[in-house]
Amino acid sequence: MRHRHRAAFTLFCVLLPLSGAAQRLPASVTPEHYDLAFTLDLQRERFEGTETIRVRVAEPTQRIVLHSVDLEFREVAIGRGPAAQTASVTTDEGAQTATFTLPTPIPAGSTEIHIRYAGALNQHLRGFYVSQGKNRKYAVTQFEATDARRAFPCFDEPAFKATFNVTLTIDRGDVAISNGRVLSDTPGPSITQHTLRFATTAKMSSYLVAMAVGDFQCLEGAADAIPIRICATPDKKDLGHIALEAAQQTLRFFHGYFAIPYPFGKLDVLAVPDFAAGAMENTGAIFYRETDLLADSKSASVDTRKTITSILAHEMAHQWFGNLVTMQWWDDIWLNEGFATWMANKPLAAARADWNVAVDEAGENQAALAIDSLVATRPIHADANTPAQIDEAFDAIAYQKGAAVLRMVEHYVGADTFRAGVNAYLQAHAYGNATSEDFWKAISTASGKPVDRILPTFLNQPGVPLVDVSLACAGNQTIVTLTQQRFVQDAAATDGGRERWQIPVCVKTPGQASAVCDVMTGQSRALTLPGGCAPWVFANAGAQGYYRTAYAPAMLRALAPHVETALTAPERLTLLSDEWALVRAGRHSAADYLALASGFGREHTSGVLQDVRARFNFVHQYLTTDATRPAFEAFVRTLLRPLFDEVGFSAGSGSDTDERRTLRAVVIGALGALGRDPDVIAGSRAAVDRALAGGPALDPALAGTITAAAASHGDAKLFDALAAAADRATSPEDRYRNLYALGSFTDPALIDRGLDRALSQVRSQDAAPYLARFFANPAARQRAWAFLTAHWTALQPKLTIFGADTNLTRSLSSFCDATSRDEIVSFFAAHPLPAAARTLTQTVERINNCIAIREEQTLAVTDWLSAR
Ligand SMILES: [Zn+2]
Repeated sequence: MRHRHRAAFTLFCVLLPLSGAAQRLPASVTPEHYDLAFTLDLQRERFEGTETIRVRVAEPTQRIVLHSVDLEFREVAIGRGPAAQTASVTTDEGAQTATFTLPTPIPAGSTEIHIRYAGALNQHLRGFYVSQGKNRKYAVTQFEATDARRAFPCFDEPAFKATFNVTLTIDRGDVAISNGRVLSDTPGPSITQHTLRFATTAKMSSYLVAMAVGDFQCLEGAADAIPIRICATPDKKDLGHIALEAAQQTLRFFHGYFAIPYPFGKLDVLAVPDFAAGAMENTGAIFYRETDLLADSKSASVDTRKTITSILAHEMAHQWFGNLVTMQWWDDIWLNEGFATWMANKPLAAARADWNVAVDEAGENQAALAIDSLVATRPIHADANTPAQIDEAFDAIAYQKGAAVLRMVEHYVGADTFRAGVNAYLQAHAYGNATSEDFWKAISTASGKPVDRILPTFLNQPGVPLVDVSLACAGNQTIVTLTQQRFVQDAAATDGGRERWQIPVCVKTPGQASAVCDVMTGQSRALTLPGGCAPWVFANAGAQGYYRTAYAPAMLRALAPHVETALTAPERLTLLSDEWALVRAGRHSAADYLALASGFGREHTSGVLQDVRARFNFVHQYLTTDATRPAFEAFVRTLLRPLFDEVGFSAGSGSDTDERRTLRAVVIGALGALGRDPDVIAGSRAAVDRALAGGPALDPALAGTITAAAASHGDAKLFDALAAAADRATSPEDRYRNLYALGSFTDPALIDRGLDRALSQVRSQDAAPYLARFFANPAARQRAWAFLTAHWTALQPKLTIFGADTNLTRSLSSFCDATSRDEIVSFFAAHPLPAAARTLTQTVERINNCIAIREEQTLAVTDWLSAR
């Protein structure tokens, strides 16, 4: 799946429920094949199911337990032919199981379970659900992680792999998409229906079964003789061309990487109007939310093209990592998500060297490091038993940390060796299941290097190592001493840390062509570097190491003047982020960070400048006062105005590179929001007004930035125009840019009007990201909280779909005061979100850290500003 996604005082402990291990099914009955037939009634939002499961029974038994939720059983019989016995059915709502009990035991061996049942197409975007399009309803499935059991009784655990035959009886005018290709399409049984039979699937887990029914239309293509279709509702079919091109390219790329060719015959990719996650990798039938797949190929921005291409690559990579080889249990979900996230960038990096994918990866690492610096983080490999715990495991630790650790190991053993190990792992476990241990053994064998000692320290322990770097000079050689300990943002919570990692490190020195790499196996490690006594070293060369570094102030001062020439863009981003992390941990002063960052006024890599902008946003919001904020804003203007004068407000002759356009957007965004630059604000409003009035369209790369800049100083006229533009937009990019800009207004009456839309116009899938815009806006934050708590009953169904609960809870991290923190804690104690329990603890920890750093660092920022 693909997510939409990022204190020295009291630490609140929200205990996670630890029960739930009992929900695992007994292993004595295992499925081999399912025959599934559904008759859909979309108008009444119902379905009837007929199911036969061929199972293997290990020992004679009178009871079979499988998963089932909200299904009405009509008849259950077990056995073949005349030997079949009718079973009685009991269900357990808490355990989400049904138990079939027989009068006499069935013998060990192969048998069949026959079930007739019925169910409702629900409104909750999971299981078999209704999606509301412009003029009609659609029926769609989303089963990961534990919701196949809402559509058919099944052994709903990833290790119970089986083959599936799907048959769908639907309205005569509708089409259907499932995992296999359509084998037959026959009229009937009634005059208003037709019945489609789909090809038998490969052996796979139940969470990968997929069905979608409606009047979808598809663009058709192919790559390496595999048919590929990009499908959508009829009005959006033509927005699939970017995705079709990307899917074809990506499949060819993967055929060059993987030893096993695409194993599932055909690939359908479908955008549906309501979808909780970003996308879902169902075998041969990837389902999506529209905005992550569909865009106007004439006007799409670079960001949108990147998003479409990388999410497609993520979901297509899952066809190998997840669908062909599946984690044994959800405690190793990183084997799916970490791999798909790691792989997602490769086709893009190969196709577009100019898109600086390595900088994006360094930025992705920061998302993982940010969570992993909290006390309330978790190990990559961590217990997950209840459906709520399993849902919450789809977090930045599984995705971004998993990917970061894979990149580190790939860098350590070499890309070709790593690829050989990955292919050996896939071949050994194809159509089966695997564990973390299986993976590290495969890479160790392929490389002959101690990956089996390195990886467990990153997979089984929580947190991130901090490597302290010190320099000495002896006999005209540089001695670098590296010392590790766990890095925790809340300095008071650090007990020295028991965790120790085996860390592949790479150190570079000025004037040396290549870095010196080694593995830190103990607490401390000394490296002797050739080439004289270096004034500085950079201890994460290549920016591929999953660790933070801390330099002594003198070394940082020696390095600072050379960052532009001596460090690559990903290395610069890593250095800046590490320094900021040390500020958050109270080890360095915010003034030191500002001094370092003020050397980045000529930074020409947009991803690096974007990182600086995010830290400046924190300083602007939390570390300045009403008295010092104008001085900080003047500092931002002075720093970035020369770059703005260079790139200008709009594209020149049209010869701009994509990178220059993106850089312009970052500079304008920073000058507007953090510099309150009057030229930028007025220019943004004028450009938005012209575009909304039917004049020249906004430059796609700039549109989001300048729309938000205009809205943050906007009036009711602009609010109405943006709301109307969102409603009439056909392309998702236009729609969401205008819709989400409603969260940037500062006038209280307009904030309230924007919030009210969350109750009515905003779809469930968009409610949490929409509200997050208001929580990110200092002028709207308190009103948004009051709105959320006042309308909780109405909002709750929208905010408890998959991922919305964690998204919402994370967005509350922008509060930075004890009163709000206490209100948040007591509100969610009374209105618990079980799948966001750990996220709430993390949010409280972040708020506490913000309170602490605000107390510690506001004066440092004041002094630094007045000394300028
Ligand atoms: Zn995924």
